[in-house]
Amino acid sequence: MPYPTAGPDGDSDALFGLDALAGTATPGGGGTGPARLPEGRAPFRDSPAARRLLPVRHVYAEPAAAASPRGREILARFPAANVVEVDSHWRIPGLHGNEGNVERWVRVKGETLVLGERKSLTTRPNGRSADWIAPGASNGCAMACAYCYVPRRKGYANPVTVFTNIDRIIAHLGRHIARQGPKREPNQCDETAWVYDVGENGDCSVDALICDNTADLVHAFRQWPTAKASFATKYVNPDLLALDPRGRTRVRFSVMPAEDSRLLDVRTSPVGERIAAAADFLDAGYEVHFNLSPVVLRPGWKEAWAEVLRQLDDVLPDRVKQQAAAEVIMLTHNRELHEVNLGWHPRAEEVLWQPGLQEAKRSENGAVNVRYDHRVKAEAVQAVRTLVAAHAPWLRIRYAF
Ligand code: SF4
Repeated sequence: MPYPTAGPDGDSDALFGLDALAGTATPGGGGTGPARLPEGRAPFRDSPAARRLLPVRHVYAEPAAAASPRGREILARFPAANVVEVDSHWRIPGLHGNEGNVERWVRVKGETLVLGERKSLTTRPNGRSADWIAPGASNGCAMACAYCYVPRRKGYANPVTVFTNIDRIIAHLGRHIARQGPKREPNQCDETAWVYDVGENGDCSVDALICDNTADLVHAFRQWPTAKASFATKYVNPDLLALDPRGRTRVRFSVMPAEDSRLLDVRTSPVGERIAAAADFLDAGYEVHFNLSPVVLRPGWKEAWAEVLRQLDDVLPDRVKQQAAAEVIMLTHNRELHEVNLGWHPRAEEVLWQPGLQEAKRSENGAVNVRYDHRVKAEAVQAVRTLVAAHAPWLRIRYAF
């Protein structure tokens, strides 16, 4: 697929010396230098398309984050932005939790950036999609999927917060990986590697339009033979093709029926583009999986999913199919987000909010989450499995819930 540009141009200084920090130097481990730009190619992140997604005009920055090498790089990328100093990247007055932001929800996501330092470095066990959830290098997203749970803690407007202390995050990961030793038994996450989800609260492909945090993570994982990074994405960023991940990063392209995506996946790459990019990512050294998610139940959903699966079968070459696996995730939603969405995207709620099919459950933080009633969900999961068996039998389902 002829991408317009490739290759990040930034430095990876933060990575040098990490082997020593993390105690995980490995024979044949990855050199951690910057990715090479093919001659004459400008990075995609400087393209008009990337600038349209992130026309950054306002930056809220913790002073230490702004003064850090990564912070300075980011500020240099957006020289016209108005920079406001903030004490903390959490709860920025006028940005987070401000109901007035509902009307400009989508604009805020593209025009605003937050720079902060990640204070807590905790890796949590998961066991479903990944063995571990890594402390992310960002929180928030420039895209605006109507079902996204990422804004749950920061309120209505949740643009990308970039954590500038990526070196500390990577050093933490190196220590964590070293402590695990080799993986002794295969599981649904991976046969041999400990899988770390590095993008729980954002989209690493979009983060790579802002800075080299994603590149640094990809480079770090290629020196750790017992571990693998993993992230889900709804954005095709050709710059990632130049990072040389050497099989140590799994990209999970999220797919769903095109009509659902057009309604719900606001600001993302079209589903067809994500599918078309899979072979290029495999050839560039990534493992490529798919997230069939979220599965939204609405009239005609089975036919629509059959169509997506046929598209995967038609478009993907055998080499992608042979290594592919999928996660199937049924929609979960919550009351607060439902109410927010009614303010900016009520049509989405016509399919997302289905009280007749859904049951409510109060989560630990008090939010009311809704999910498909367990019987409805069990039948739907089985229906997806049947559709996969019929239309994409090569697609191993790692898990479905
Ligand atoms: S791409 Fe992912 S993180 Fe971004 S808005 Fe959509 S669901 Fe949320």
